[in-house]
Amino acid sequence: SHCSHASAIWVWFLKTSLGEIPRLLKPPLCSLLQFPFGRRLPCDIYWHGVSFHDSNIFSGQVNKFPGMTETVRKITLSRAMRTMRDLFPLEYNFYPRSWILPEELPLFVAEVRTMKDSNPSWKPTFIVKPDGGCQGDGIYLIKDPSDIRLTGSIQSRPAVVQEYICKPLLVDKLKFDIRLYVLLKSLEPLEIYIAKDGLSRFCTEPYQEPTLKNLHQVFMHLTNYSLNIHSGNFIHSASANTGSKRTFSSILCRLSSRGADVKKLWSDIISLVIKTIIALTPELKVYYQSDIPAGKPGPTCFQILGFDILLMKDLKPVLLEVNANPSMRIEHEQELSPGVFENVPSPVDEKVKVAVIRDTLRLVDPQKKKRKDTQCQSPEQAPGGSEEPPDAAPSPEAALPSLCLKQVFPKYARHFSYLRLVDRVAALFIRFLGVKGTTKLGPTGFRTFIRNCKLSNSNFSMAAVDILYIDITRRWNSMGIDHKESGMCLQAFVEAFFCLAQKKYKALPLHKQVLSLLELCECRLAALHGKRLVWGCGLAQPRGALRAAGTAPGPGAARPHGPPVLRLQKSSHQLRALMCRDRTGS
Ligand code: ADP
Repeated sequence: SHCSHASAIWVWFLKTSLGEIPRLLKPPLCSLLQFPFGRRLPCDIYWHGVSFHDSNIFSGQVNKFPGMTETVRKITLSRAMRTMRDLFPLEYNFYPRSWILPEELPLFVAEVRTMKDSNPSWKPTFIVKPDGGCQGDGIYLIKDPSDIRLTGSIQSRPAVVQEYICKPLLVDKLKFDIRLYVLLKSLEPLEIYIAKDGLSRFCTEPYQEPTLKNLHQVFMHLTNYSLNIHSGNFIHSASANTGSKRTFSSILCRLSSRGADVKKLWSDIISLVIKTIIALTPELKVYYQSDIPAGKPGPTCFQILGFDILLMKDLKPVLLEVNANPSMRIEHEQELSPGVFENVPSPVDEKVKVAVIRDTLRLVDPQKKKRKDTQCQSPEQAPGGSEEPPDAAPSPEAALPSLCLKQVFPKYARHFSYLRLVDRVAALFIRFLGVKGTTKLGPTGFRTFIRNCKLSNSNFSMAAVDILYIDITRRWNSMGIDHKESGMCLQAFVEAFFCLAQKKYKALPLHKQVLSLLELCECRLAALHGKRLVWGCGLAQPRGALRAAGTAPGPGAARPHGPPVLRLQKSSHQLRALMCRDRTGS
């Protein structure tokens, strides 16, 4: 059995997903071995190439979350960011204002006209990006909404049109962006790590603010490596602080020597990353419970994400996109003669990426997890203590230099937890999904939600509930994102929930309306659950019954321990506290 190899981590990986990196992992992680029998025996870690696409894994860890690729697509990301911006406009102003094409074209035209009317000196530029595109594919800049191309094979694809950041920070007169690697180590509880170093990818033509004349010059406006490599000006450099691809730390050094507040910049970047992941988690949890239902054997997931960030002139970081499958190539293509390319090692990529992979393996090391679990079960251990529990016994990895991945969540959770409202709405949605394996709520599930939360009254009849369901569901399904299942998707449920919150708590700002309705729903579900337990005389109930009453934990959550009677006492106590807070419930 692979378990007998005390210090080895058995990993199944695709050569194309990790490239040359396993060869470069330094001892003691050289004990990382490709599993010699392929997929026939269980492995500790499965390292997939593109996405979570595997229902045949029942244990171990997988390097992808189900649904991540869909969740970070340009349209889905823009929607999630817009929902968060509606709730928290100041906190989510790091993502450029975006509209979804073709359905929001009229809205885009109208909003731009209004903004131009109120500020005639505003001369904006917009960037149009096809959904699901990458490497700059099909991207173009426009000065006016009427320049959008809606015909042609690429143009007819759904797309996002976005405010173009006209004043980026320049280094050596060139525009550049930052690729930062972020490890989502766990969804529930949320654990996020950021790599202390990343890559800076440079344009190859000196930057000028966009004009009608230079809009088409991709080497000036787009920082994609895959585009700029084809420019005659691309500079391959063995040094980390020159050339067309540099380390982010070299840029920080440069900025610091110019007197910039680099500490503040880092803290803004950390905040951007945490807020972005908070915007993505509701959707991910829906996919997670569908692919890896609670109570059935399944793997745990982790994922390395590539965050593309642009710095504005005033050093404010702006999120461009999140990549679910960032390239881990540590060599680059060099054009020897026109059209003839050769792969040569890239020291900058190697420096940044090998450290990220090494630290990821170290953090998800199953033996470390086992040690941690043993500690958590120990009665002497204080709950929720330090950020990272100390290792029980010195491990071979202790010999490695300090981690390049820095934990930022839960470390800074107290500054961001108030933003996790949609997460709670998603928890309600998941409770009422009913049959496992679905991602969409049927009309009966929606009615049960309304009935159990007692949201219907003389002003809001069950017939009106059905109309709300049909209206919102039909509109979302007509946008044609996911035709696989019928019913109400999470975003549609979120819209319905916001609608109900606005109806009930008119005078409050949106986030307070949503919070009030959430507390009301959670309180009423707890009351219902309390009653059911009393009727059941506190006897153990089947897991399904608890879940239907809306008390089962979310996806990936630790399984509840202890007898149901104890949970009854706890929930009645919580219930009274919540009831005192609900002054508006009818
Ligand atoms: P892709 O997935 O095709 O690479 P991106 O969203 O990363 O699409 O955009 C490609 C490039 O376009 C970015 O690397 C960046 O240089 C530029 N870019 C994208 N969005 C903006 C924006 N809103 N403002 C300024 N430049 C942008």
